Amino acid sequence: MQRRYFDYAATTPIDKRVLEVMIPQIENNFGNPSSVYSFGREARKSIDESRDTVARVLNAEPKEIFFTSGGTEADNWAIIGTAFANKNKGNHIITTSIEHHAVLHTCKYLEKHGFEVSYLPVDEYGMVDPEDVRNSIKESTILITVMYANNEIGTIQPIKKIGEIARENDVYFHTDAVQAFGSIEIDVKDLNVDMMSISGHKIYGPKGIGALYIRKGVKIDNLIHGGGQERKKRAGTENTPAIVGFAKACELVTENLKESAEKAIELRDYMIKNILENIDEVRLNGHPTERLPGNVNVSIRYIEGESILLSLDLIGIAASSGSACTSGALDPSHVLLAIGLSHEIAHGSLRFSIGKDTTREEVDFVLEKLPAIIQRLRDMSPLYNS
Ligand SMILES: *Cc1c(COP(=O)(O)O)cnc(C)c1O
Repeated sequence: MQRRYFDYAATTPIDKRVLEVMIPQIENNFGNPSSVYSFGREARKSIDESRDTVARVLNAEPKEIFFTSGGTEADNWAIIGTAFANKNKGNHIITTSIEHHAVLHTCKYLEKHGFEVSYLPVDEYGMVDPEDVRNSIKESTILITVMYANNEIGTIQPIKKIGEIARENDVYFHTDAVQAFGSIEIDVKDLNVDMMSISGHKIYGPKGIGALYIRKGVKIDNLIHGGGQERKKRAGTENTPAIVGFAKACELVTENLKESAEKAIELRDYMIKNILENIDEVRLNGHPTERLPGNVNVSIRYIEGESILLSLDLIGIAASSGSACTSGALDPSHVLLAIGLSHEIAHGSLRFSIGKDTTREEVDFVLEKLPAIIQRLRDMSPLYNS
């Protein structure tokens, strides 16, 4: 059976060109980058070059890039690290109710350790109001963390504006750009961010690797303690092959960003229009235009998103019901509840995410099969029949 992948927001297949640069690293470049002899120096050189590449694509300086084990660690580090390093100034953190769990659960953890967290609401499209951010800042505020683009509904936040407000008030600003990076252009200087998280496996790179951009001068504690790697800020022997692969992925994904975004937007809007026209009692979740190029998220009334997923899987289509982290659990997605959906409607939601390899033929296949699947499930649904 031909399989069709529509879950690029959960993870992406590795780009062949990324794999090609990783293999020689795994096979030959095994030296410990901290060693002084040639084996070590070669590994060190690969890491340095990779750091230069990542810095270049973000318009950062190499010494502002710190490799981590992925987006989750980068989020934990940014939040816990600045909270503890600046607790003499205050204990208040501002975030939003639609963050990824890597941010939300980290904030919850800090609440247990004496920090106070404001979780800002969003509007029906999942947008944060920068004025809400401004009004929530108080004397004790030390950090604002707002995601660049939402992983479930694709809404892109006014990050530059929020960054301006943070800077005016002399408060650190972190953004989780794991979903945004590779889909929209990012320039850390232009964005007014102090810290930014990115991840390899969302951009056709390897899993278990990512980076935290830390603007020079930001006061931040270490999260991982041990050796002196990453300029004494993140301990642990570097994962050279993953770092080299990650840098290659960063380079490739930003190279053709404009064209690939345009192509994805075309497929996305075609898919949304078709679903809204051909299936009744369905709504689009997220912002109509300020959304990630590859994100389609809809709620289909009277049936469970999970049942649709299973039916789609039987014909080789891989999609997601809101978020991979929440599927399998009974709680509806916190993001869908935050935009005001009832539990019932939130349960009937479905996310298709489009990537660089998605074709019109694949989209047409989904659009052809989906209405019948939904009709069949609705015919069995007591909710629909009453
Ligand atoms: C995937 C994702 C993460 C986690 O990144 P990992 O590299 O998988 O740890 C964090 N935030 C967002 C918005 C994500 O989409």
